[in-house]
Amino acid sequence: MDVELIAPNGVKWTQPLGLFIDNEFVGSTGGKTITAVCPTSEEKICSVHAATAEDVDKAVKAARTAFKSPSWKKHGAKERGVLLNKLADLAEKNAEVLASLETWNNGKPYSLARYGDVGVSIDVLRYYAGWADKIHGQFIDCGPDKIAYTIKSPLGVVGQIIPWNFNNASVAVKLGPAIACGNTVVLKASEMCPLTALYWAKFVKEAGFPPGVINIINGYGPEAGAALASHLDVDKISFTGSTRTGKEILKLASLNMKNVTLETGGKSPAIIFEDADLDNAALWTNIGIMTNSGQVCSATSRILVHESIHDKFLEKFKAQGEKISVIGDPFEQTTTHGPQVSKVQYERVLSYLDSGKSEGAKLFMGGKAVPQGGKGFYVEPTVFTDVKSHMKIFREEIFGPCVVVVPFKTEEEALEIANDTNYGLNSAVFTSNIARAHRIAAGIDAGNVYINSVNNMDIRVPFGGTKQSGIGSELGEPCLATYTYNKSVFVNLAI
Ligand code: ADP
Repeated sequence: MDVELIAPNGVKWTQPLGLFIDNEFVGSTGGKTITAVCPTSEEKICSVHAATAEDVDKAVKAARTAFKSPSWKKHGAKERGVLLNKLADLAEKNAEVLASLETWNNGKPYSLARYGDVGVSIDVLRYYAGWADKIHGQFIDCGPDKIAYTIKSPLGVVGQIIPWNFNNASVAVKLGPAIACGNTVVLKASEMCPLTALYWAKFVKEAGFPPGVINIINGYGPEAGAALASHLDVDKISFTGSTRTGKEILKLASLNMKNVTLETGGKSPAIIFEDADLDNAALWTNIGIMTNSGQVCSATSRILVHESIHDKFLEKFKAQGEKISVIGDPFEQTTTHGPQVSKVQYERVLSYLDSGKSEGAKLFMGGKAVPQGGKGFYVEPTVFTDVKSHMKIFREEIFGPCVVVVPFKTEEEALEIANDTNYGLNSAVFTSNIARAHRIAAGIDAGNVYINSVNNMDIRVPFGGTKQSGIGSELGEPCLATYTYNKSVFVNLAI
């Protein structure tokens, strides 16, 4: 059930194709498959097994048995940390394969795959490995007759549904805290990029995890994803993906009142004041929208600029973009801008570019598909101006290299435009006025605010959204609370 693969950069490996359940790769019961396609060449890479609801049930049963088994209970906090560190070591040893897989199947530039995705995944696992033996409850003095203490108890079987844009980092961000807290897991990868998470499954047994503790499957969202989200023996769902699917998952999770973490979409603002360092703002706002060809939930896709510097900023943004956005083969070292992940996403992004034009916005730069040598789902870095707040390109998440630039007159107006959205994930403010920077940070409806940078994140700092951008947060210490419940134990001393 394996296949030998050689990526376009010459890196070779044996790719598993089955479902990883109970520490074994097994076939799907339904015989359905998912085909992994290279978005650069538009050619098939290989096909993997797609889980049915029956396969999901098998994986959940394996995770439940593992959760209850003395062998997992015996793995105390320190041992769980050791296992996570081993997983990180294996990812580091196989970093070239993991990065090649991501560049081949996702289209992400190789250096971003190696350092922004695989590198992050290694760091995240080591970070949560360190937490594993530091997850303590409280002792509470209740007077002379009674004491109480709390235990941070694992939730049980956790279902994790990941997207396709940063597969390596997503695997680690989901597995790290769940395992550190003592849960067992069924993780479902996205059908758009089914190979990377499956390669991680090879490390699970080698690292020494007992069977059933980590199960990794592929499957279609409406079938396998829905089966996991609605399964009555799953205690928690942690989901990253679109707001539309997040709402669906919330409904399914209500069946047995699962604990839920949702990290969903965004339409994040970057506000640039007249006193900002414009070169710095032009650099970071390019990074904020164009990284990973705009396929980042936290992309700052609405740039709000003080009217007095609007035209000057646009020129600087364009000049900076021409320097840092190099379109090409993502395996080439100089490439920073690869294709969109799939034909569906590519066509979706292009339809937004058409809607911007037909709704009357002005195309300042880009605006079209740019296949390389007649192939690939490439879209030019695109900027629209003269955008009205009712337009789709202002309101909806495009998930592509397209940004709208909107002028404002006052600080109040800037905040009003920034908050005129159903989303609340990310935001940025560029100014040299410290008091104003903090006023904006306090007033903006967003889970993350960057002052004079964008997406300059850190694994030690929680990341999450408000409004329709999600529930709960990931990374940092606060994420641990989303994988445990407080058990309060009372002791009667008056006997
Ligand atoms: P995108 O459209 O960008 O792929 P989605 O939110 O649809 O984003 O997908 C993110 C993840 O959610 C994927 O793993 C996908 O399989 C899964 N998914 C999609 N639809 C459902 C659903 N109805 N129930 C559960 N999971 C789903």
